[in-house]
Amino acid sequence: MIVKGGFLIIVAGPSGSGKSSITKLLLEYFKNLDFSISCTTRKMRQGEIEGEHYKFITQDEFNLMIEENKFLEYENVHNELYGTPIEPISDSVKFGHSILLDIDVKGAYSIMNTNHFDCCSIFIKTPSIEVLHERLVARNDLTDDQIEKRVAEAKNELKKSTYFDHLIINDDLSEAFNEAKRIISGL
Ligand code: ADP
Ligand code: 5GP
Repeated sequence: MIVKGGFLIIVAGPSGSGKSSITKLLLEYFKNLDFSISCTTRKMRQGEIEGEHYKFITQDEFNLMIEENKFLEYENVHNELYGTPIEPISDSVKFGHSILLDIDVKGAYSIMNTNHFDCCSIFIKTPSIEVLHERLVARNDLTDDQIEKRVAEAKNELKKSTYFDHLIINDDLSEAFNEAKRIISGL
């Protein structure tokens, strides 16, 4: 399927809400939808590929990119830096594609308020905080302390859901994916 070109499709929501799962399905489905590969200072996890999931860079490299105005937005998320490079976004848009950003709620909010691009913002949430907690536990890659911090952070992030164009409750994954498809197909 083809998506209307020129859009930034921002998928945001608390950690564990299902952003990566939904993003992966959308990128397989829409052929002219690119993925915005963020830069991050966090360590690569097992199974991740440099330049595909993220560009893994040092704090000094990140600071240099900030100085050179190379980020559309950047944030400290869970004590690591994450940023959206501008250049690939401009290239995608020039090429008649749209580009999908899987970013945190603060970063999404700043793009929605300041950017010069056409945006479609989608907030993903779980049916409840308890379900979010269960999914973070099931991921099996976070300590108890990290899970508690992410759940606490989620409660704040959920307050911003009303600022987004669309809200998807990710109960059943295929239904959530269908809903995202419907939104993007309608651009
Ligand atoms: P995020 O990218 O927002 O942190 P993920 O996509 O990594 O979230 O999802 C968090 C965890 O929940 C993963 O283990 C994923 O497989 C699982 N998950 C995602 N959506 C669902 C769903 N609808 N039902 C059950 N588990 C899900
Ligand atoms: P993870 O380290 O689990 O891949 O991602 C942690 C959080 O950082 C997720 O909420 C993810 O959406 C967010 N994130 C990833 N890239 C960016 C980015 O470029 N900017 C911002 N603001 N958040 C990002």
